[in-house]
Amino acid sequence: MAVTTFDVIVVGAGLMGSAAARHLAKDGATVALIGPAEPELKHNHTGVFASHYDAARITRKLDSRQNWARFSQAAIARYAEVAQQGEQTFFAPVGAIIAGPEHGAGSDFIQSAQRNAQQDRITHTALRGAALRDRFPYFAFPDGILALHEADDAGWIDPRAHVRAEIAAAEKLGVTIYQTEVAQLVEGTDGVQAVCIDGQVIMGAKAMVACGAFSKAEGLLPDPLPLTAYARTIAFFELDDAEAARLRDMPSVVYLPPDLVTDPYILPPVRYPDGKTYIKIGGDPVDRELHNVAEMKDWFRTDGDPDVGRFLETLLTGLMPDLAYRAVTTGSCSTCFTPHGNPLIYHQTDRLMVLTAGNGAGAKCADELGRLGALVASGGTIPSEIYEGVFHA
Ligand SMILES: Cc1cc2nc3c(=O)[nH]c(=O)nc-3n(C[C@H](O)[C@H](O)[C@H](O)COP(=O)(O)OP(=O)(O)OC[C@H]3O[C@@H](n4cnc5c(N)ncnc54)[C@H](O)[C@@H]3O)c2cc1C
Repeated sequence: MAVTTFDVIVVGAGLMGSAAARHLAKDGATVALIGPAEPELKHNHTGVFASHYDAARITRKLDSRQNWARFSQAAIARYAEVAQQGEQTFFAPVGAIIAGPEHGAGSDFIQSAQRNAQQDRITHTALRGAALRDRFPYFAFPDGILALHEADDAGWIDPRAHVRAEIAAAEKLGVTIYQTEVAQLVEGTDGVQAVCIDGQVIMGAKAMVACGAFSKAEGLLPDPLPLTAYARTIAFFELDDAEAARLRDMPSVVYLPPDLVTDPYILPPVRYPDGKTYIKIGGDPVDRELHNVAEMKDWFRTDGDPDVGRFLETLLTGLMPDLAYRAVTTGSCSTCFTPHGNPLIYHQTDRLMVLTAGNGAGAKCADELGRLGALVASGGTIPSEIYEGVFHA
């Protein structure tokens, strides 16, 4: 049984945890980052899962929620630093569109995004009607839709590569990595013990739980988290080379259609580790809650909900009627939300804190959320002149 003492133990080597570890180490703390590698086969995996096991996540500064627009501005400004320090590229700056009804029901979505863009001077082009069709002929947005196109510093990131970059950069700063799961955090008068499933016990002055949806697991934190995890199905459309070439300038898309049934997001053609190129769409029409860790694991082991897959196929072919694809497959994931819409970045005790709740948008801005986590762990507060609202239960 190994016992080592660190200033901070970060539990969860995902998007937020790896970023927090880098920032803590940058600020001079000694850090242990604990988290398992991605399972090779998910269908019979019995351990924890992550929400970043994919090749692409949308990144954009435009957002109807001001905090999230600002988290992203800060994080995107540091992508080059993270990539350089971690010796890993993860950002594809293909641009992004956010679109929704310009007037009437649902118009607040796009109007708020435009207001936030104006306030923070986020460069974008507003497109509607014929101008929208001319600029992006492969999309069939209905009349009445306003699309804000962000051509610079937006597009998609490879979340696995982002995590690799953060971890490599953190290791260079002296962070110690433990590729295992924490079964329990035990708080004592002189520190916190992280008891791992492989028998290791790692000792720290404090611990930060950054386990995504799994932060709710029993044994990690003393108080319940106001965190709701939802089952998400993603549909992948396999493209041949000619179709991928036709869509080579396609941006990432976040779209609220006029029926307001769901707000799908669409990734442009991305080459996946299996060598194939896919367009990806997500946007469940109904929120299905995952109530506990057992339900989360059962869900992650599946290939998603086939009915949602068919719904997403109808949605995408409605928006891209000329899309030529070979096959559609589906996958499962989970997103977790708070009632106030902000991430959770707070201490439950002097020694135990939490950094979680991506609210469906935590990949693109993970480096800023990690920085804020490191700030709070070091006794600082989230600057209220930049970020509104509360970050606790
Ligand atoms: C289908 C889908 C699409 C999305 N699209 C976007 C998008 O386009 N843009 C965007 O910005 N965001 C997107 N998101 C959200 C984004 O992926 C999440 O907000 C992000 O992954 C949250 O990061 P995290 O570090 O909190 O959690 P995770 O990335 O899930 O990382 C948590 C880590 O904790 C580890 N862990 C769990 N339990 C333990 C334990 N007991 N001990 C040790 N380690 C543990 C896990 O192994 C994992 O590595 C999407 C999410 C989903 C599901």
